[in-house]
Amino acid sequence: MLEVNDNFRQLPVSYLFSEVARKISAFKKENNGAEIIRMDIGDVTRPLFPNVINAMHEAVDELASSASFRGYGPEQGYSFLRDAIAEHDYLDRGIAIEAADIFISDGAKSDLGNLGDVYSRNSRVAVMNPAYPVYVDDSVIDGRAGKLTDGRWSRLIYLDCDPDNHFMPVLPQEKADVIFLCFPNNPTGEAISHDDLGKWVDYAREKGSLIIYDSAYEAFVRQPGIVRSIYEIEGADEVAIEIRSFSKTAGFTGLRCGYTVVPRKLKGRYADGSEVALNALWNRRQTTKFNGASFVAQKAAAAVYSPEGLSCVREATDYYMQNASIIKEAFCKIGFKAYGGDNSPYVWASAGNNKDSWQIFEELLYNCGFSTTPGSGFGTKGEGYIRLTGFNSRENTENAMSRLIERYL
Ligand code: PLP
Repeated sequence: MLEVNDNFRQLPVSYLFSEVARKISAFKKENNGAEIIRMDIGDVTRPLFPNVINAMHEAVDELASSASFRGYGPEQGYSFLRDAIAEHDYLDRGIAIEAADIFISDGAKSDLGNLGDVYSRNSRVAVMNPAYPVYVDDSVIDGRAGKLTDGRWSRLIYLDCDPDNHFMPVLPQEKADVIFLCFPNNPTGEAISHDDLGKWVDYAREKGSLIIYDSAYEAFVRQPGIVRSIYEIEGADEVAIEIRSFSKTAGFTGLRCGYTVVPRKLKGRYADGSEVALNALWNRRQTTKFNGASFVAQKAAAAVYSPEGLSCVREATDYYMQNASIIKEAFCKIGFKAYGGDNSPYVWASAGNNKDSWQIFEELLYNCGFSTTPGSGFGTKGEGYIRLTGFNSRENTENAMSRLIERYL
């Protein structure tokens, strides 16, 4: 029989979302099918923008005619989209990232894992704690995590984030080769300042580390002084890869499109010490293992950069952020400590009374009829917290928060 990748065996069964679903359905059964408001889902609820829909219709028509039909596209993405990204997301903001540095993807999640093809198997990987679980799980599958003891993997370097450090990771003592940073952060909802991120860029430059900067939620940044792109920090283009997505920016979670920036200035070395550009390696990897994102999805993504698209992005992200702010205010009112929500659709809340995440989850489910995500699912430092999301209708958000206030105030 085939010998399989033993690392899968090490991977703990991801029970977070299935357990949330199981508890919700148990509650419904006990309460005659009572309606539950889902405040736990990290998925958009609003439809695609009208001009994005039009662009997709046009793209389909193009594929329907033999005169304009297209088959395989460039593995790196179509230049109409790479150019639009370079212009709007970088050049317009004074950042020298060009189309040749940008690779179109089918979303952020795939490339977060795919990048593991580029750095050495021996790399020591640093992750924030709590964190979006994909960074840890990818490291386990690729055999970089070591052994699991008390919720921590022996070869991972954990960057613990809590109220004492304002949820900002502190530079590690040990040398980290690859550092996953995510801002605005899922799950804490906190965003990072130029000064704080500048320390990480300095660290990476000094140590020769790579930062993989997940900025899937950059469109939610509102405050001045808060980072949208790591390349706003001088010298970051020599140490960082940035991962972006149209999922939360423009409602593409089902459509699938994102991009990964691998600046041509970013260098690594082979085992014999000879230098190589990561852009060239990534290009080689993509042309071997990827055949490009769908033409229709790329046309849709390009429409996001039209004046109409950009104003819809603002409107949609404002809407979700307004929900987040309603959530944060309500939780603060009943005496919880609540974080995030200002440059992010996520609110991170703790009862501050030693209740664990699942206890808080169950209490809110049974007392208020809404679901949350237990923070412990995002790492050991998530224990005692719940994550709430602004991805909902205003009506649902207001109803859930009225129930909270009625029950606890
Ligand atoms: N990165 C973070 C921090 C996320 O929260 C998510 C999705 O929830 C992703 C990446 C994945 O995004 P995509 O839909 O582009 O794969």
